Amino acid sequence: MRLRRSKAGQGDIVDIGSLDPRGEELRRIRGGEIAIIFQEPMKAFSPIHTIGDQIVESILLHRTKDRSEAKRIALETLRDVGMSNPGQRFGEYPHQLSGGMRQRAMIAMALAGRPGLLIADEPTTALDVTVQAQVLRLINGLKEEHGTAVLFITHDLGVIAEMCDEVAVMYLGKVVESTDVDTLFYGAVHPYTQALLASIPSLAGNRDRLETIEGTVPIPVDLPAGCGFFGRCPKARPGVCDAGEVPLYEVKPGHQVRCVLAGSGKEANPR
Ligand code: SF4
Repeated sequence: MRLRRSKAGQGDIVDIGSLDPRGEELRRIRGGEIAIIFQEPMKAFSPIHTIGDQIVESILLHRTKDRSEAKRIALETLRDVGMSNPGQRFGEYPHQLSGGMRQRAMIAMALAGRPGLLIADEPTTALDVTVQAQVLRLINGLKEEHGTAVLFITHDLGVIAEMCDEVAVMYLGKVVESTDVDTLFYGAVHPYTQALLASIPSLAGNRDRLETIEGTVPIPVDLPAGCGFFGRCPKARPGVCDAGEVPLYEVKPGHQVRCVLAGSGKEANPR
């Protein structure tokens, strides 16, 4: 992964993969320039430290060495993410909070270091729909308020419509379609993206059965030779799609598709 610095050393591009995983440089980036909201905060938080101590630790690492100032920032961040009664929550352990409150605490911890990039990995999957809507509104609001870029990882197309500007659809660990959110919903080209969109339940029409994608994902130790979607694709062309690696093609500026059906476009930079 390559990071374009947003704070110190503006303009530098750093190859994070080449840094010492225990070194100073990566520790500064982790939590300070890039932070992550994990899918299941109950597993991500330490169960033997209070929420407050865990947020303060991030602030002491990235913003100030003054412990009382760090506590003030932690309480302010808990208030920013809409935590009720932050003074009391500060001294509580993760198991004492509800799912929604734990996720807010996780967001507060991620934001406490004021990162330039926030990676949100399925942050609302474990939440009921009401709390899910609150958390999405919260992340959108914070994104606008602090100018933080958000990389949102989700399988929920409704959440994508709500949250994203640019979308990369992945299959078997590869980007198969990459475009802006409007094109994704109204002009998807890759058969996998089209199948995902077709499988969204709809109240319109007179359907007896929900659309599904036939077959299963290949196991990683026995991957097909060509396109990874070959065994499940209704438009597959034997002898073409399974002949070799399928590159990403640019069907129009900003819209890339990994499929032979898009093969009249020019080849995009491989990802
Ligand atoms: S390359 Fe072939 S098998 Fe793969 S998605 Fe395109 S049409 Fe389907």
